[in-house]
Amino acid sequence: MPDDCLFCTIVAGEIPSTVVLDRESVFAFRDIAPAAPVHVLIVPKRHIGDVRDLKAEDGGVLIEMFQAGNEIAASEGIAESGYRLLVNVGPDAGQTVFHLHMRLVGGTWLGGVGPG
Ligand code: AMP
Ligand code: ZN
Repeated sequence: MPDDCLFCTIVAGEIPSTVVLDRESVFAFRDIAPAAPVHVLIVPKRHIGDVRDLKAEDGGVLIEMFQAGNEIAASEGIAESGYRLLVNVGPDAGQTVFHLHMRLVGGTWLGGVGPG
């Protein structure tokens, strides 16, 4: 793992986080600055920088990330009310941590389609 990667360090347990799900290939924890009542980050345990680094062989971990999102939404009680699974790519999208992460947000009306 790159030693300067924040999310690799969190996955390794070297920086504390509020763990929501811990699976063989996927890890999920609560965002430190929640933008919604439910705001969970879902990451592959293996370092992948961002969407632009994905390869065909990463397909398995991607479906596991989506499945983790669905599972967490159910355990957070928002499976029926709805939620967003979002991935920022690059500076203009606001990506600040370059370890692939999907954000699960929900628990309130999230607004219509927009740039944010
Ligand atoms: P992005 O800006 O899309 O790269 O998302 C990075 C997210 O990581 C932001 O929502 C931050 O609030 C969150 N974050 C940064 N540091 C931590 C941390 N130590 N624990 C949990 N979430 C964090
Ligand atoms: Zn990493």
